[in-house]
Amino acid sequence: MQTGCGMALSGGLRCCQRVLSWVPVVIIVLVVLWSYYAYVCELCLVTIEHSLEKALYLFMFHIVFLLFTWTYWKAIFTPPKEPTKKFLLPYTEKERYDNEERPEIQRQILAEFAKKLPIYTRTANGAIRFCDRCQVVKPDRCHHCSVCGMCVLKMDHHCPWVNNCIGFSNYKFFLLFLAYSMLYCLYIASTVFKYFLLYWSGDLANNRAKFHVLFLLFVALMFFLSLMFLFGYHCWLVGLNRTTLEAFSVPVFHNGPDKNGFHLGIRKNLEQVFGKRKNLWLIPVYTSIGDGLSFPMRTISESQNPLLSGENQWDDEDGTDEENLVSSHIAIEIDT
Ligand SMILES: [Zn+2]
Ligand SMILES: [Zn+2]
Repeated sequence: MQTGCGMALSGGLRCCQRVLSWVPVVIIVLVVLWSYYAYVCELCLVTIEHSLEKALYLFMFHIVFLLFTWTYWKAIFTPPKEPTKKFLLPYTEKERYDNEERPEIQRQILAEFAKKLPIYTRTANGAIRFCDRCQVVKPDRCHHCSVCGMCVLKMDHHCPWVNNCIGFSNYKFFLLFLAYSMLYCLYIASTVFKYFLLYWSGDLANNRAKFHVLFLLFVALMFFLSLMFLFGYHCWLVGLNRTTLEAFSVPVFHNGPDKNGFHLGIRKNLEQVFGKRKNLWLIPVYTSIGDGLSFPMRTISESQNPLLSGENQWDDEDGTDEENLVSSHIAIEIDT
């Protein structure tokens, strides 16, 4: 009975948590709806008298508004990707792993299974990265998100403002969302400024419109400044091909930690996120390169990297073991 109550309570708490997690998104949506009303109705329709200026402001505003809402929608509703079944520990290995008490043997079981997987990163003490909760061997750059309760490919961070995990599947959308949010704020601030001065100096005297126009400028500038720092930080991360998590915890490879392990040069780093077709970089459609399970690296032997050799050597059951991989490691610099 107690267990039943406990389960009902934890189910209720989870439900509450799920509802509450939408609060930041609702706040943003309400602010955006107000900004739409204030700009379109109070500024363009009530305050601006010149019809050409009115039409031009409304036209430009709706283009920026469309791009902004489109990217926000994509950032919220593009689900994070989790590792495929081939990273899931099979039943027999899982039994052996669970029944084994010696950590070094558990480590061996994981190392044995991971031989056929395209994995280059390790834990700080050199072991295969394994998620106990999802029972998967973590692909490179994959991390478990405790909010989503799943392992997320190329996890960047869990963002409360989009109530979503930002990772391989939606990082481009998140970056575009930041960029178009800034553009939206900048556009509002720059077009509202003239009317802000007119209201301020008393040349215009509609009190209701005055209130909205003053607040439009204030809110747009406030959001623009805070977004600028976040966007600048993510531009720096993309330029170095790092995730937020990797900026705080350096990935460990066979030959030790390397904070620039995935850095391929700025152009290739950008292509990893935005794709090869530059005309699609600014459009919120999916164009990122790869499958999110394995990534090209700055220094890796061509024969060992399936992404460079073009064939999946990891399907080979008799693949090179960990020790041999280290000893036969011949580093090449990928053309930058
Ligand atoms: Zn997990
Ligand atoms: Zn998450």
